[in-house]
Amino acid sequence: MAASRRGRLPAGAPAAAKILRIAVPSKGRLRDPAIALLEDAGLGPETPGDRALAFPCRNAPVEALLVRADDIPEYVQDGVVDCGITGLDIVRERGANVTELQRLGFGACTLEAAVPEESAFVSPEDLTGARIATSFPRLAQDLLPVPIALVDVHGSVELAPRLGLADAIVDLVSSGSTLRTNGLRSIGVLLESEAVLIGPPEPHAAAVQLAGVFRSVVDARGMRYLMLNAPEDAIDAICALVPGSRAPSVLPLSEPGMVAVHSLVPAADIWRLLPELEGAGASSILIVPVERMLG
Ligand code: AMP
Repeated sequence: MAASRRGRLPAGAPAAAKILRIAVPSKGRLRDPAIALLEDAGLGPETPGDRALAFPCRNAPVEALLVRADDIPEYVQDGVVDCGITGLDIVRERGANVTELQRLGFGACTLEAAVPEESAFVSPEDLTGARIATSFPRLAQDLLPVPIALVDVHGSVELAPRLGLADAIVDLVSSGSTLRTNGLRSIGVLLESEAVLIGPPEPHAAAVQLAGVFRSVVDARGMRYLMLNAPEDAIDAICALVPGSRAPSVLPLSEPGMVAVHSLVPAADIWRLLPELEGAGASSILIVPVERMLG
């Protein structure tokens, strides 16, 4: 049996278990966070060497193939792999026949139209007939609201206006500092992108299951588990501060008149909540990461 001969099944797994093949970016900014996601999902990826083309996972019948992020939509579409992690911008640009199984919460960036600071253009509608340098020709044509002349470039797109090759660019932006450094200003966001797990239109059940596991990790990363002690008569004020999606747990303490309050809170709210909780009488506050959120 091929799977067991390749030695990738965990001890005790049924011999016939199918190995799920997932494509992971081989380099670039999505590679490390994608491997970290496999780790946080408990799959136990073996650390790939710099030249590795594939690596197994210790805890699950999953094999990761390291592939250029740009090629991953085609690999998934053609069934070379069962699913893959890449940027949503790449998925849309390649126009592959794949389905988005799960957004992954990293690699966030926007595809934007930008012009030289001194340009008269102020919005994408102004770009009628303009020469647009981009390595996203399909998206530029589909998402700009007016007809344009494409200048297909690969890399250093921001230089094209300065070289007189283009009037504007369409490129990915995260902090905006590359645009500023090159004397460009954004005139519109065309697409919001982040890393996504994709599969074929009819994904294998194991790929759908993996998407659920990833979702539990992605959701948990945005939350913190908050524990605090408070006098009983402060409970209403404290619960009003941390309503959460469900009611907080209130547990009696051995000290008379004192309770412990436990709640899930969005990580982004912590900085604002802490002084408010202390002001409401909370003490012994603990904030801990959440590994998974299910159900
Ligand atoms: P890389 O392989 O490093 O060129 O990155 C490829 C993918 O990373 C892009 O297609 C995006 O999905 C994502 N990404 C996130 N932020 C940026 C950014 N500021 N510039 C380019 N790509 C980005």
